[in-house]
Amino acid sequence: MIAGKKILLGICGSIAAYKMAYLVRGLIKAGAEVQVLMTPAATGFITPLTLSTLSKRPVYHDVNDGENWNNHVELGLWADAYLIAPATATTLGKLAHGIADNMVVATYLSARCPVFFAPAMDLDMWIHPTTTENIARLQRFGNRLIPVGTGELASGLSGPGRLAEPDDMLRTLDQFFQTEQTAAGKRILVTAGPTYEALDPVRFLGNRSTGTMGVEIALAWARRGATVDLVLGPSALRSEHPNLTIHRVESAQQMYERCVAVFPKADYAIMAAAVADYRPKNVATEKIKKTGGQDFSNLELERTPDIAATLGQQKRADQTLVGFALETTNEQANARGKLERKNFDYIVLNSLRDTGAGFGTGTNRVRVLDRAGTWTEIPLAAKREVAKRLVEMLLV
Ligand code: C5P
Repeated sequence: MIAGKKILLGICGSIAAYKMAYLVRGLIKAGAEVQVLMTPAATGFITPLTLSTLSKRPVYHDVNDGENWNNHVELGLWADAYLIAPATATTLGKLAHGIADNMVVATYLSARCPVFFAPAMDLDMWIHPTTTENIARLQRFGNRLIPVGTGELASGLSGPGRLAEPDDMLRTLDQFFQTEQTAAGKRILVTAGPTYEALDPVRFLGNRSTGTMGVEIALAWARRGATVDLVLGPSALRSEHPNLTIHRVESAQQMYERCVAVFPKADYAIMAAAVADYRPKNVATEKIKKTGGQDFSNLELERTPDIAATLGQQKRADQTLVGFALETTNEQANARGKLERKNFDYIVLNSLRDTGAGFGTGTNRVRVLDRAGTWTEIPLAAKREVAKRLVEMLLV
């Protein structure tokens, strides 16, 4: 997948810079075009001559080399991906705070492509809270971390901080180009998690959904380049991706309102939330006491809005609506009925009878029914993998 791709490689001043000769060789062998950038410090560890010979292009190590101004803006637009490796503690700090005093950082700020960074440093620098915060900040901005390895370090210490191996970096880029392209330009609405229906200021009716499956589906779309709105009920999950906007809601009513607002722009809507079907008819403004007239023995309930069915009615011909069904009996017939009733294009059937499927597990096994009546099985796998397969199926 790397063949034909334009890769910027930003090399910093670390002893691990010597490994970049091997990486450049690997990228060129795989058919990529490679433009090497270096910080001034990096040139003390590996020569620009070595890297320009391997990459078959001049290497830039100064924004202004005395005669030429090297155009970092143009480079930032040219690239399909920018890999900064080895990323030293100093460069991570500069990247995280926009200190563009060299070619590597100036080009980072101009880059419109995805940016990967592979840190390398000594043990104590790696575990220092400054480094930890700079990395978290860079990830929050949507940059992708290629994790460090653990082992013997150049200082003689042993622990985390080793630069990822060039082969691992090649694999990361290869996987990125395999998955990233196909949903670019699409807009996706995903619901996930449970809803909480208030009884009083402290109690609610809820369910055991963690939101994992829906969040993984949202991420799978985002990784393929789609713009995703995730409407998420109360969930401890935190996810970040530059293509993902999370709308946190609590009740079915709030989820309904947000979905109805977002749906007109969506190409696909995936209804993975476990929405409460009923809510208390009256919500007490004060905490309800065990004694004293108002208690739970005659709790009156009313139906919540059916979000999926509402979107099914509003659906245009260019939109695809995907529902979920969690059934315990008569599964396939119930799922088929739900697909018709709610006007879904696909329904994903979870069975609580399957080991490893359903709430609170890291894995799932599902069967997907389309409008033509065809069932497709996605076998038991990690929810991330199931999400990926589901998105692939919807994109075909
Ligand atoms: O009718 P049932 O709850 O089994 O339908 C499940 C499907 O409908 C799921 O896709 C779920 O997210 C959606 N749903 C909804 N709003 C509701 C109830 C269910 O969007 N109030």
